[in-house]
Amino acid sequence: RAPGTGRRPPARRILGLETEYGITCASTTGGPPPMDADSAAHELFDPVVQRFRASNVFTRSGARLYLDVGSHPEYATAECDRLADLLAQDRAGELVMADLAARANARLADRDVPGRIHLLKNNLDARGQGFGCHENYLVRRRAEFWNDARALVPHLVTRQVLVGAGHILPGPRGARYVFSQRADQMEDAVSSATTRARPLINTRDEPHADAERYMRLHVIVGDSNIAQGSTLLKVGAMDLLLDLLEHGGDLSDLQLAQPMRAIRDTCHDLGGAAPLERDNGRTITPTELQGELLARVLDHCRAELDLDPLHAGVLELWDRGLEAVRTGDHSLVEAELDWAVKHRLLTRYAERSGTGLDDPRVRRLALAYHDVGPDGLRPALEDAGLLKRVVDEATCRRAVDTAPSTTRAHLRGTAVSRAQDLRRDLSVDWVTLRLDDGSLPPVSLRDPFSAQDPRVDALLAAMDAQAVSQPPPCA
Ligand code: ATP
Ligand code: MG
Ligand code: MG
Repeated sequence: RAPGTGRRPPARRILGLETEYGITCASTTGGPPPMDADSAAHELFDPVVQRFRASNVFTRSGARLYLDVGSHPEYATAECDRLADLLAQDRAGELVMADLAARANARLADRDVPGRIHLLKNNLDARGQGFGCHENYLVRRRAEFWNDARALVPHLVTRQVLVGAGHILPGPRGARYVFSQRADQMEDAVSSATTRARPLINTRDEPHADAERYMRLHVIVGDSNIAQGSTLLKVGAMDLLLDLLEHGGDLSDLQLAQPMRAIRDTCHDLGGAAPLERDNGRTITPTELQGELLARVLDHCRAELDLDPLHAGVLELWDRGLEAVRTGDHSLVEAELDWAVKHRLLTRYAERSGTGLDDPRVRRLALAYHDVGPDGLRPALEDAGLLKRVVDEATCRRAVDTAPSTTRAHLRGTAVSRAQDLRRDLSVDWVTLRLDDGSLPPVSLRDPFSAQDPRVDALLAAMDAQAVSQPPPCA
């Protein structure tokens, strides 16, 4: 606590973002695509497999880069305990994917394959299949956990008016612009679920940490975001809401009667005014509900918390975003929140070219917004001041091979880097580090908050000592 004020910083929390990317290979000659998504994904991962004999690896920054079944390459950021680190690590994931795509495209050109691979940080592929961006929040294990998770459902249903990535929804009476690609996918997910929270929050209890002390809240309902403002607000708001719940706050009176219907209704009304049925029989609109959540968080912060600039920025953007939706004055956030940035881009283009949102050129432009490769719009939008940064590009570039310094990821990143440099085989998962030669017992890092560990020092020393006695094969 800060001396004299009785206030404390928000509770330290591990944060991580997993992003699945869409992949396509577009023809460079106007013909049919020269390869399907599956082949493109394998082409993309070829150098990874060549080098590491696996398509599931941990990087020098402590992140996980992998290709699961299906054809969505994924980057799961290292554990962060600061919002700025999380933004940098998330952008680092885009840079890693962009680099893999550039290298794959160079190989295709060498082989005279008339195709170009694109990696899309969005949530819907050309066949209408959805894929995700998962948020991970460490919480202290306690009996109320599932009550807390349920209490967060109204937030997860309505936060898309702030942090949705925007979407052109085709329909019988023409296309229209809505808040999120994910909302309509979630409706399907409820059919197999028995608890209300299930399709929005993954109930698998896999904390990647000391299971007696910790749980990992695994939110699977969010859109993938391009705008750092959206990611900041998405993660920062959850962080503060969890702080409120963990310190005796209550949100249980805000439950919605039909969350899955509400998520769709919220998505489809760009004015944020859809009436959502509450479980007390009254109705509330998404902006009213978000306004109430913000008011409670503000009260909590005033009473207890001493906020760093980024957390303060979360509250300010939360308020401004709601004002933009309520009033229809999108200029309040149109360089910071994805749905608004993209809305301006697409509507201006459609106006200038005298088309509607269903025009294929508008749809291509919408895809280019999510393209993280050289054909993507981010650099041009940033240069034109149409998309703002929170963390500068140089810092994000450093995060490609530098782990956050204040969490367990630092230990993993250091060990992976040393093993790569010395060409030692090191087996890694979120908790464990193990030298494959069996010379040391595996190290289990059960405290994700700990960035120092004598056992890892010993592991590094063992790798160094081996390097002296037997130089690596290609050194
Ligand atoms: P999968 O996606 O294969 O189903 P998973 O949900 O376990 O598995 P990963 O893709 O391996 O997810 O990513 C795990 C994410 O959780 C990473 O972003 C990581 O930073 C984060 N993470 C790791 N440990 C913790 C923890 N103790 N608390 C919160 N987040 C964590
Ligand atoms: Mg994952
Ligand atoms: Mg996951």
